[in-house]
Amino acid sequence: MKHSISIFWRDRENHYKLLITKCRNCGKSSYPKLKRCPYCGSTNVEVVESKGRGTLVNYTITYFRVDGSEAMLPKVIGLVKLDEGVKVPAEIVDVPDLSSLKPGLEVEAVLRKYSSDDPHGLIYYGLKFIPSIIKKQ
Ligand SMILES: [Zn+2]
Repeated sequence: MKHSISIFWRDRENHYKLLITKCRNCGKSSYPKLKRCPYCGSTNVEVVESKGRGTLVNYTITYFRVDGSEAMLPKVIGLVKLDEGVKVPAEIVDVPDLSSLKPGLEVEAVLRKYSSDDPHGLIYYGLKFIPSIIKKQ
């Protein structure tokens, strides 16, 4: 997928950090970063950065074909509940065995390649999640 360099640059903070809106009025948190609380409508909110750890709520596996190949590769899309209490949709990568995926699996955010314009073009990075057990090894 082609990205606009200027749009990606302007939105870079949301690609490299998990920013959560915390409401000072009702105390609830939400994702993504907002200027107004989606629960009570208050603008008395603060933006905090998540530590990037959480658990897998659920996931789905899709398969895609790489250009010039007949092989279908798996891509795991999960819903992660961060330790701060909000849910984030994200790609789950570095899964050694797809059968090890299950709700409740501990995961953490890592910076990974999203896409590139072409073999010699810009490379876009963003946050994805890996099973925490991989980092402990
Ligand atoms: Zn609120």
